[in-house]
Parts: sequence; C-alpha cells; structure tokens
Amino acid sequence: MERVLVRKVSDLNAAVAEALDFLGYDFAGKRVWVKPNLLSPHPPEHSVTTDPEIIRNVVRGLRARGAKDIWVADNPGGGLQRNVSSYIAPTGAVEASEGCFRSISETPVTIPTKSRFVSEFRVSRIVTEVDIVLSLPVFKTHALTLLTGAIKNLFGIIPGAQKSYLHTVVKSSDEFAELLVDIYQAVPVPVLTVMDGLRGMDGQNGPSGGRVLGLGTILAARNPVALDSVMAMMTGVRPTAIPTTRIAAERGLGPADPAEIDVTGDFAVIPGFKLPSTRVAAMASGIAGSFVYRMIQRRPLCDKKICTRCRRCADNCPATAITMSPYPVIDRRKCIMCYCCAELCPEKAMTVPGPMRGLIQNITGR
Ligand code: SF4
Ligand code: SF4
Repeated sequence: MERVLVRKVSDLNAAVAEALDFLGYDFAGKRVWVKPNLLSPHPPEHSVTTDPEIIRNVVRGLRARGAKDIWVADNPGGGLQRNVSSYIAPTGAVEASEGCFRSISETPVTIPTKSRFVSEFRVSRIVTEVDIVLSLPVFKTHALTLLTGAIKNLFGIIPGAQKSYLHTVVKSSDEFAELLVDIYQAVPVPVLTVMDGLRGMDGQNGPSGGRVLGLGTILAARNPVALDSVMAMMTGVRPTAIPTTRIAAERGLGPADPAEIDVTGDFAVIPGFKLPSTRVAAMASGIAGSFVYRMIQRRPLCDKKICTRCRRCADNCPATAITMSPYPVIDRRKCIMCYCCAELCPEKAMTVPGPMRGLIQNITGR
C-alpha cells in the first residue's frame, strides 16, 4: 500500500516539514537534487512554476535534516539557456534557493533506457551525482498530457533542445506519455515528490496559460505514480484516465487503483476542475479509434492582438513548423501538435483550441 499526504496549508513552514517527514527518508549526509518546475520566466502568481516559498522551506527543511549537499536546479523549456539563473529570475526560485541554486544545462551525460523510441537519454549530469531527487511539480493541467504531475516533472532532467527532439520521435500524446514514463524509469536514483498545490492551474491552456486556482494544498509521496493517482482523483477523474499514470501502473511502477493507496490528510475533489478538452480527444481515441482522434487534434492558434512577435514559439518549435510573417504562421503539414509553442509563449498569445475547432481545421485544412 503506497501512502500519499494531502495537506491544506495554513502554515507553509509546518506543512512542508510535515511533508518531508511523511516521505520517511533519512536525508542526513545525502546529496539531494531539489527539482522544481521552472518551465519559463513567469512570476509565482501565474502558477506556472513552483512557488518560491515552497522551495525556500524545502531547502531549510533539508538543511535541518542534515542533508550533505542540496542543489536546486531545473532545465527550463525551450532551447539551451546559457544563464539560467538570470532567465528564470522572475520565478523567485534563485533567491528562494538560499545559495543552493545550480545551473545544470551544460555538460549532459547519457543514461541507458529500454524505451522503444530512443536508445539513451541525454540528461543533466546532476542526476548521476546525487543520492535522491526531491521533485517539486506544480498541480496543473497540460494540453498534451492532461495533467502534469510527478512523472511529467522529470522531463526537466533533459536539457535544452533534447526536449524538443524527443517531441519529434513520438507520434501521439499517448506515445509522448509512454516516453515520459521511460524517462522516469531511466532515472538512476529514487524520486520523492512534494507537489505545489498552493495555487494550481486548470483548463485548456495549461501548463502555462490556464486558469489559476487557489487550492491552498500540498501533496507528498514516496511513489510518484501514487501521487499522480491522487492528483487525478482530486480533479474528479480515474487515475487511469491520465496516460502517464495508466502506463506507469501497467508497468508495475506504482498504483493507479484507489484501493491500493492510503491517502492521509485533507483529500477532497476540487469542485469544477476543468481538464483540457484533449480529455475528450483521448476518450474519443479509446472509443472510436485513431481516425476520430486524428480528426479532432488541434493546431495552436496565435492571437495577434496579444502576440509581441518575440519569435520564442518559432525558435523553439521542434518541427520548425512556424515562420514569422510578421506574426507566427504554422505550417499544418509540419506541425506535430506537441504544443511547445503554447507552453513557451510568454504572453499566452498562442493557445490550444477545443476539439470542435480541430475538426474544422482538419476538414477545411485551415
Ligand atoms: S505567439 Fe507568443 S511566443 Fe510566439 S511570437 Fe507571439 S508572443 Fe512570441
Ligand atoms: S507549431 Fe507548435 S504545436 Fe506545432 S510542432 Fe511547432 S511547437 Fe509543436
């Protein structure tokens, strides 16, 4: 039986301390990679990145528990950032790391995998230098994977353009989910999770442009699959509705059956939580087969009223499907529907439309 803590937060310091104790891991003398979600340079109130006060309290909690080395690090989305601390400064993570922030994007190493898509992963060296990864994902939706939780947060062990490349080796959101589970399985050290649900995000345009909630919660678990299962249950769906959770459970990496999870604390289903409408697409895929699924897959749309023509989407499209003319124009034949452009747009100008729009796009070719 795997255990998961769900705690409503009134005192963050106390809640993080409870979460670290709940993990039941002896951090004394250990080298710890604290792995927040630092996707892009958004301020904390956008709920795109891990709240800096959670990072601060985790660092202090690890120091108090005698951790030997503590490194706070992540690989932001998009291409390689030469100066990560400057790039993600708006998130507040560097200051909150209290001297433990480390840039990890350069000098990657390879680690083996049994993935059917690639023979090895090029990852940040830090993953081979630590005893444990303490992952700090944010409770939010994702247009491609429905939810982005404990397993998805480990995509950040891969630096720079490698992430984009991996989007090109899969053909569907289910295959991408499979690849994410491959990455989790390739991590050579145990992974513990404390999830930031202080604000949370739902809706169509997670992980960076969805609706910011006010959940006031943190979660913790030794097993990432169990944690993701409880996260799914809080959003009102079966854990197996989330592809990464289903695939990981099928591989025996953790439970997706609520009967096999001991939930402690303040579990509650979040009223009105909205998953991306790709949920509809995934369900249709299961019910009606891949033709229907293909017909309702959607290409992102650019809102020219908001777009600043910064080129970030074009520069980071894995399929080089975007040209600037002068606003982003997506070549529908090249687009692999990875949604990196929407994920990385700093203005929330690039968004993922609903399945009906996808149907229109596929019928009209526009
Ligand atoms: S859609 Fe977003 S990322 Fe792309 S050019 Fe416009 S503002 Fe920049
Ligand atoms: S246009 Fe956007 S969704 Fe399409 S391949 Fe490029 S980054 Fe991915």
